[in-house]
Amino acid sequence: MAPAPRNARKSSPGVAAPAAGHRLWAPWRYAYLRNAGKQSGCIFCFGALDAGERRERLILHAGKHALVMLNAYPYNNGHLMVAPRRHIAAPDLLRRGERAELNELVTRTITILRKALNPEGFNVGANLGRVAGAGFADHLHWHIVPRWAGDNNFMPVLASTRVLSQSLKDSYDQLHPLFKAIKAGLS
Ligand SMILES: [Zn+2]
Repeated sequence: MAPAPRNARKSSPGVAAPAAGHRLWAPWRYAYLRNAGKQSGCIFCFGALDAGERRERLILHAGKHALVMLNAYPYNNGHLMVAPRRHIAAPDLLRRGERAELNELVTRTITILRKALNPEGFNVGANLGRVAGAGFADHLHWHIVPRWAGDNNFMPVLASTRVLSQSLKDSYDQLHPLFKAIKAGLS
């Protein structure tokens, strides 16, 4: 059985616990992204990338119609996003092949996270439109967030960008080999 992530049950010193009933995937998190100035354009749109560039952009899997990447501003360890390769805003714009690959990737991502991180549950969902809290409203994406009992104190914590960044690369290196195994079946 895989161990729980090291931050799963810790609260962060100096960071207040969230108010009861706070929204999951609230847009305030994306202020970090806007301010960071690291990304320009759409984070889900990319052409040919080498392995180093994929790691830098936290892309775990890039299939023909869909991709999986780590969320750079995660709510929890192992917070991944699944998106179509095509820059579209809503599920009703998906073509049949895209729908099939997206569904498959969401399912396989849950399986991989279950094996790698041993979560006790998941939040899986999409915010459609800025009014619904989407940080990147123009490119459809699903959030897959592993959950552990008692992780609420960790979820809103972004205490240190530097520490978080290191943690993200660790997560990438842990999960990337698991996604390599599904490449053949989907691409
Ligand atoms: Zn895009």
